[in-house]
Amino acid sequence: MAALAQQRRISIQTPAKLPVCVSCHRPIMPWEKAVVFPCPKCGHPIWRCAKCRKMGVPYKCPNCGFEGP
Ligand SMILES: [Zn+2]
Ligand SMILES: [Zn+2]
Repeated sequence: MAALAQQRRISIQTPAKLPVCVSCHRPIMPWEKAVVFPCPKCGHPIWRCAKCRKMGVPYKCPNCGFEGP
């Protein structure tokens, strides 16, 4: 029950600050099937929208400039 309450709190906070896809620079909507993972070099969260992920567009870390597939 406690875990459920925590999830709700997170989902309410998310729309206030939309993440941006690092490949196409578009804001990622909460309902999009985007992925987020830490940069292999600096750990900065990297967001990729479903479209860029599907097309295999390379990403570039906005923090350290690391580029990856
Ligand atoms: Zn994208
Ligand atoms: Zn980085």
